[in-house]
Amino acid sequence: MDRLLLFPEPFPDESLYSLAVRYHRLVANDSYRRTSQELFGTYSRTCGSVLPCCLATLSQRLEEKYSVAELVDSRTLLPLYKPFLSNDGYESALHCMRGPHGTGLKMSLGMTASGLLKHASFRYCEACMQHDADYYGVSYWHRIHMAAGVCTCPHHGNVLLRASFPEGADWRCMQLPGESTSTPVLSESSLGAAYSVAEMQFWGLSNPQRACELVREDFLRWRLTEMGMLQQGRLREQAINSHVERRFSNSTHEGEFQSVTVDTEWVMRLLRRRRRIVQPFRYYFLCWLLETSAEDLVEFQHKICPRALRMNSLVKDRCDSGSPVEIAERRRNFQSDRDKKLHDRQGYYWLYRHDRDWLQNYVKSYPFIRTRKVYVDWFSRDIALSNELVTAHAEIMAEKDKPKKITKSALLRRVQNHYGFLRKSSKFPKSIQVLESLLETEHDYQLRKVAWALKELQLPKNYAISVIMRLAGIRIRQISHLEIEDLLQARGNGDNL
Ligand SMILES: [Zn+2]
Repeated sequence: MDRLLLFPEPFPDESLYSLAVRYHRLVANDSYRRTSQELFGTYSRTCGSVLPCCLATLSQRLEEKYSVAELVDSRTLLPLYKPFLSNDGYESALHCMRGPHGTGLKMSLGMTASGLLKHASFRYCEACMQHDADYYGVSYWHRIHMAAGVCTCPHHGNVLLRASFPEGADWRCMQLPGESTSTPVLSESSLGAAYSVAEMQFWGLSNPQRACELVREDFLRWRLTEMGMLQQGRLREQAINSHVERRFSNSTHEGEFQSVTVDTEWVMRLLRRRRRIVQPFRYYFLCWLLETSAEDLVEFQHKICPRALRMNSLVKDRCDSGSPVEIAERRRNFQSDRDKKLHDRQGYYWLYRHDRDWLQNYVKSYPFIRTRKVYVDWFSRDIALSNELVTAHAEIMAEKDKPKKITKSALLRRVQNHYGFLRKSSKFPKSIQVLESLLETEHDYQLRKVAWALKELQLPKNYAISVIMRLAGIRIRQISHLEIEDLLQARGNGDNL
């Protein structure tokens, strides 16, 4: 077959698989094998994928009514990945989808490594299904519902339903939404994050060029700067982590969201661009963590038209303040968090964007006084060390052995914190004073040694001074003859030398 005799008219955001199913029914084929041969000229195993292959043959058989690029842009999820791929990466993915072999495509896009594929399923929204049936006469698969991290409908906010094909069959049973049993992909009632992420992903899929500009202009860093979490080009990791952890508590933790709310490591890796390819879900979830909505992405004009537009946008942001009731409540909540730093208080970023004048006045009126934590009580250490030095001195003096000179090192060897003292001696003023008063001069040391020699040693009756000096270990005498005589006299009197 060279040319398809009929082919369904695509509906808005309809996936290629959905078109294949409708074609299958139009021509009343009895098996997917036949349909695949007719559409793709081969048995395609990727028709049910969000990134199907064999598109060149399909385009050819449609007599190029839709080019391969058109099919990719409007019927697959590749445009969602475009902002996160290099030109070569995107061309390579296109080449892959053009031909009959899709092997390695998901791996090259980082989808396999991300671990998100295990959550992949055929999803649909009941409200969309009803609308499509009423408006187009048939319900169909929307490609945005198939994207990883899209758990609610970006149009209706409903939790998406996961289709279970009958009797363990897969997508080759060629069914449309609502034709099999289904279960909700999320059960929680708090769906703010899921809805916001779905909206942003739908915007990214529908506006790949603007999403490319968003990533190229480094929206995340701009947002971090606006939130005070990027200063002088450096990420304030602690502030980011604590903010992100707080936001985790407002997010659902089911399905795909489980993998992005476990820890904050991936956030820092993404911001530092350490991951080769960013998954759109992670990127848009991080946007939500940074209190960004799809509207903010639409309005992002940073650098695209420099300064003037940015200023307009900021002014607009500030003018687009909430209702008086909302402002009053935000201010009240902010003021009630007195114990926290300003950036950590509830609603700081909202006030920064919508009520900045009030916030600035508040900050001026209540300046943050940084309290310096005292980690080491140097005064107590000084007192303790000076007492230890006195004790050490007394111990040396009480020794019965041959006297040792009382030097700085002899004293410090006997105290506990002598390393700290030597390194930071300025922190020990009292100890320095005590130490200096305890040190022994050479003269005093010689007197002590002579006294010890006279007391401890058996001296002959007739002895010379030189004998005492030798016994006391004194080579260069610094004491007078008279002082030695006094010591001898004291010994004769039985004084305690
Ligand atoms: Zn819907």
